[in-house]
Amino acid sequence: MLTAISVILGAFIGSFLNVCICRLPKGESIITPRSHCPQCETLIRFYDNIPLFSYLFLRGKCRSCRAPISIQYPIVEGGTALGSLVLFLKFGLSWGYFIYFSFLSALIVITVIDLYHQIIPDVISLPGVGIGLLASLVLPHLTFRNSLTGVLLGGGSLFLVATLYQWFFKREGMGGGDIKLLAMVGAFLGWKAVILTILFSSFIGSVTGIIFIAIKGKDLKYAIPFGPFLSVGAVLSLFLGEEIIQWYLSIHR
Ligand SMILES: [Zn+2]
Repeated sequence: MLTAISVILGAFIGSFLNVCICRLPKGESIITPRSHCPQCETLIRFYDNIPLFSYLFLRGKCRSCRAPISIQYPIVEGGTALGSLVLFLKFGLSWGYFIYFSFLSALIVITVIDLYHQIIPDVISLPGVGIGLLASLVLPHLTFRNSLTGVLLGGGSLFLVATLYQWFFKREGMGGGDIKLLAMVGAFLGWKAVILTILFSSFIGSVTGIIFIAIKGKDLKYAIPFGPFLSVGAVLSLFLGEEIIQWYLSIHR
């Protein structure tokens, strides 16, 4: 029963995250006004605003003007629902579920906004650092000291990389947004997960870059934003981090 509720809750929160994704970069309020079709401005009825189902019933088109609804909506709703389910199965009804659900929500919003606009909004990452530090006070497996070390290692390591890159290539390679994002990851997951996140995201980022070059046949003229890779790396660290660290320690014993 609670498992089903976690999925439904996830889908509705995903629906809210879509609103944040559309409005935060424009500096609009995320509370009011109610959602309108971006094409014809028609107010979206509550029964046309049910996560996932409305998209299927409307076959991905606005009811009044038939303009296509972005695939972003069902993907974010479905992804958030799935994330909520996996977190519930991992943590049960506990602080861990609610804290890591908010962490995951922040990563989803950051990822989609970064893909569209190549920015990581400070209004998410900076409060995220504070919330992650506070969360360590109630999470059983994360000490405040570990959380704070995570912030310093996450922010510090990327700051160093960004500074060296700028000094060496005389152009900006990594934005300040990435630095604050990894500091947030460190606050929520601790310093070991920061190292795992860097490893995962560099690996996935390199593979993606190579595929991109192979398909397009040229180097990345405009850089792919790194935020989405950091987010994927952080999610992998969240779900598999403990297992990977245990396995690594066991083969080096
Ligand atoms: Zn419309």
